[in-house]
Amino acid sequence: MALDDYVWAAGVATDLVNTAPEVWHGEDHLPDLGSLVAFADLHSIPTPAHASDLRAVHRLRATVRDLIDHPGRAGLITGASALTSPAGNVTLLPDSARWAVSLRPAATVTDALSLTCGVGVLGAVQTLGVERFRGCSAPTCQGAFIDTTRPGRRRYCMPGLCGNRVNVANHRARRSTLKHHNG
Ligand SMILES: [Zn+2]
Repeated sequence: MALDDYVWAAGVATDLVNTAPEVWHGEDHLPDLGSLVAFADLHSIPTPAHASDLRAVHRLRATVRDLIDHPGRAGLITGASALTSPAGNVTLLPDSARWAVSLRPAATVTDALSLTCGVGVLGAVQTLGVERFRGCSAPTCQGAFIDTTRPGRRRYCMPGLCGNRVNVANHRARRSTLKHHNG
């Protein structure tokens, strides 16, 4: 895993926390091993998933969410560093000579996701700062995210979903105001 690709890693951390039941009105979006395998595939994380990984990833998800919800610099660094414990050697990628870190032998999907989240949080703290760790601005959404956009003005945990919901709500509110004025 490339150490300089914290944008990708922070995106995986954001996607992971937003699978949690509290973001989906009680419905877990990683309810079983199959959904975990699909999540890992979607994010190009090719390590094996075992039955025990499901609960371990749920714990990891809660840990990462807690980090995003408490964005103090020292706490983020300590917490994210602990997530990198499955790391093996630091090396250079053979094709591009970028900094990279390997997983320990026999690493599981939990280890890979943990390392990814750790690198994502550390990279975002180092490069962007702690104000990039935020809750979703949509009034009814409990999601959270790490904002890795260049301007740093991201507002929603799932921009396509929460941003659209807010637009639709605003549109309805405007229309009902218009109706009221016309009627
Ligand atoms: Zn949201």
